[in-house]
Amino acid sequence: MSLAEDPATESQPKDLYRSIVDNGGFGILVTDITGNIVYANPRQCESTGYQLEELLGRNPRIFQSGRTPAPVYRELWATILAGRTWHGELVNRRKNGDLIFERVGITSITGTDGETTHFLAVTEEQWNHAPTKLMGGRRTAIDGLTGLPNRETLLGNLGETLSASHANGSGFALLYLDIDRFHTLNQTIGPIAADQLLLEIVSRISAAVRSNDLIARSGADEFVMVLNGTLDKNVCGDTAKRVLQRIAQPITIEEHTLEITGSIGIARYPLDAGSAEDLLRAAFLAQSAARHEGGDRFHFFAPEMEELANTQRDISSQLRHAVERDELRLHFQPQLSLASGQIVGVEALVRWQHAVQGLVPPGAFIPVAEETGMIIAISEWVLREACRRAKEWQDIRTPGIRIAVNLSARHFRYNNLPETVASVLAETGLEARLLELELTESAIMQDPGKAVRIVDRLKNLGVRISLDDFGTGYSSLAYLSRFAIDRLKIDQSFVRDITTNPVNASIATATIAMAHKLGKIVVAEGVETEAQMQFLRRHDCDEMQGYLFSRPVPAEDLQVILREGRHLRFVSDATAEAANTLLLVDDEQNVLNALRRLLRREGYRILTAGSGSEGLELLALQPVQVIVSDQRMPGMSGVEFLSKVKELYPETVRISLSGYSEISTVTDAINKGAIWKYITKPWDDESLAQEIRAAFRLVRERG
Ligand code: C2E
Ligand code: MG
Ligand code: MG
Repeated sequence: MSLAEDPATESQPKDLYRSIVDNGGFGILVTDITGNIVYANPRQCESTGYQLEELLGRNPRIFQSGRTPAPVYRELWATILAGRTWHGELVNRRKNGDLIFERVGITSITGTDGETTHFLAVTEEQWNHAPTKLMGGRRTAIDGLTGLPNRETLLGNLGETLSASHANGSGFALLYLDIDRFHTLNQTIGPIAADQLLLEIVSRISAAVRSNDLIARSGADEFVMVLNGTLDKNVCGDTAKRVLQRIAQPITIEEHTLEITGSIGIARYPLDAGSAEDLLRAAFLAQSAARHEGGDRFHFFAPEMEELANTQRDISSQLRHAVERDELRLHFQPQLSLASGQIVGVEALVRWQHAVQGLVPPGAFIPVAEETGMIIAISEWVLREACRRAKEWQDIRTPGIRIAVNLSARHFRYNNLPETVASVLAETGLEARLLELELTESAIMQDPGKAVRIVDRLKNLGVRISLDDFGTGYSSLAYLSRFAIDRLKIDQSFVRDITTNPVNASIATATIAMAHKLGKIVVAEGVETEAQMQFLRRHDCDEMQGYLFSRPVPAEDLQVILREGRHLRFVSDATAEAANTLLLVDDEQNVLNALRRLLRREGYRILTAGSGSEGLELLALQPVQVIVSDQRMPGMSGVEFLSKVKELYPETVRISLSGYSEISTVTDAINKGAIWKYITKPWDDESLAQEIRAAFRLVRERG
C-alpha cells in the first residue's frame, strides 16, 4: 500500500498545512490569474480589517494607499512575471483607512502543465503606524514614501505639543536625524534601493523610540523624533544612541550591504527655543555640528552653534570676493619617497587670507564654496597658481617636482575640466606629467560611469591621478581598479594609530599589498612620528606626507627646503647595525669563539681580530664603538694596542680582559685613560654582557 492511499497519513499533512496557513503569524493572500482574491487567511483578514467574504472575488487593489511609489509596482510585476519571487515593502491601507506597512513576498503558482494558475502573497506587518494615530486623522500632509508626517504637518503638530507643554508646565525633546553621506549613497545604489533603505531606516528608528513618540520625515534623508514629556539629558542621549546603533547595523538591499551612520541633533523645549520653528532650527544646527565632526554621533544644541551658523553665512557672502581681492593663498606640503628619503612631490593646499579672521583653513570654506558653486572659480585659481609655482621650481630641481592639486567633487564633474586643465598647462608651460590631480572617492562614486570617462580624458592629457583619503568611503580597492588611478593616498585616520591599533595597521598593510598588485603607488598621509614612518617603510609603503617632515608651508619656505635639498634621514638597518659594532681582540681563537657566542645574543655587530695590528686594520675600515681586548698577546700587548686606539679613535669605549697577575700593568693604562674598565679572566658571562651593554649606553649618551 502506498502512502497516498492511507487516509490517515494523507489527512495529517493537510491538517498541518492548514494549521500553518491559519496560524503562521503572517498574512496569506491568493488570487487567481485574473487577480481575483480566492483565499485570505485569518491573519490577512485581521490586519486589513476585512471579513473573508468581503475579500473573495475582489482585486487586491482595494488595499492600495497610493503611498507605495510607482516604480515599486513596476518592479514587482517585472519580477513575478519573470517567474521569480518578489520581496519588498508596500504601504497599504486598512478598511478603516489606517496605513499598514507590510513586508511582502509575492510569487506565482504554476500548475502541472507549467502555466501560472495563481499568485501567492505572504505579508508581514512591519509596525503599527503610531504616527498616523498620533496625528489624529490629519493625513493630508503625509510623506508619500514612508507614510510619516511631513515637515509642515510636523510643524503644526509641534505647535500643539508646545502649547500643551506650556499649559501643563512640562517639556519635550526633539531629535533631528540626518543620514551621513546619503546623497552619495543614493547615487551609488539607485533611487529604488535608496527608497527601500529609507523604509528600513524608518522601521529601525521606530523600534528605537517609544510607541507614543512622534516620527516625521522632514527632508529626503532627514527624520525628526519628538520625545513627549522628555527633558532629561541622559534619556535624550540614550535614545539618540539607540537610534544610531540600530541604523548602524548592516543593511542588505538588493546586492548591496550597506553600513549606515547618522548624525543627530537634540533640542529641548523650553530650554533651547520658544517656538516650533526655532526648536526645529536648533535641533538642525546641533545636527550640522555632529555631521561636521564626521557624523555617527549626536550633539545637544548649544547657543554657540547659532553664531557658527551666522559665521558660515558671512563666509559665503565674503568668499564671493576672495578671488577678486586676491585673498587666496597656497601652502605646499612635501611628499617624500620612503625608499630614497627625497622629496618627490608637493601637495598644494589652499588657505584664505581673511582681512579679519586671518588665515582660514580649507575645511572652513571649501564646503561652503561647494554648496554655492564658488568652488569652480576657486579651484581654477588653485590649479593655475599651483602649476605656475611648479614651473618656477623646475629651475631649482631638475627634472622637476610633481605638484598635486585637490579637485572638489563639483569641479571634477564640471564639463570643461579637461579643457581647463589643458589650457592651464599650456598657459604656464608646465609639463603634464608633473601635474597630479587628487580626487576623492565620493567624487568618483557619485556617477562611476561618468567618472571613468572623465579620468580617462584627464589621463590622455598626460596628468597623473591620485585617490585622496582612501579608506574613508564605501568602495573597495577591487572596484576602484576600474579607474586609471596612479596613486592611492591612505587616509590620516589609519596612519594616526598605525603603531597602536592592530586593526588599522592591518587595513593599511593590506591596502599597500593590494594596491601594489594593482600596479598603484601608495602614499601615506598625516605621518607625524618616526615610528609611523618606520612601520610604513617596513611594509613597503612608497611615499609619505606629514608633519614629521614638514607642515604645509608658503611657497617661499618650500623653495628654501628644495634649495637646501632637505630630505628624510632613515636610521636604516645598516646604519643601525654600524652604530652597534663591537671589536673583540684575542690571540686565542677559542676565547674569541666563546665571546662571540655569548655576545651575539645581544644583537651587536661583532668583529674579531687575532692581534693588535689586525685590530687596528679593522678600525681603519669601519666605525667601531666598543672594543674588548686581551692583555697578553704576542707582538703588541693589550695595553699598547688600546693606548694606540685611544690616540686614533678617542670616542671608542675600551675594555681590557686580563688575568689577575696583570692588573698592575693595566692600572697605569687605566689612569692614562686608555682603558675604561677591566674585566678579569676567567669572566662571568652575565657581568661581562652587562659591562658591554653599559659601554654602548655610554656611547649613546656621549651622542
Ligand atoms: P587633504 O587633501 O587630505 O589634505 C591633507 C590635510 O592634512 C591638510 O589639511 C594638511 O595640512 C593635513 N596634514 C598634513 N600632514 C598632517 C599631519 O602630519 N598631521 C595632521 N594632523 N594633519 C596633516 P588642510 O590643508 O587643512 O586641508 C584639508 C582638506 O581641505 C584637504 O585634505 C582637502 O580635501 C581640502 N583642500 C585643501 N586645499 C584644497 C583645494 O585647493 N581645493 C579643494 N577642492 N580642496 C582642498
Ligand atoms: Mg589632498
Ligand atoms: Mg587626504
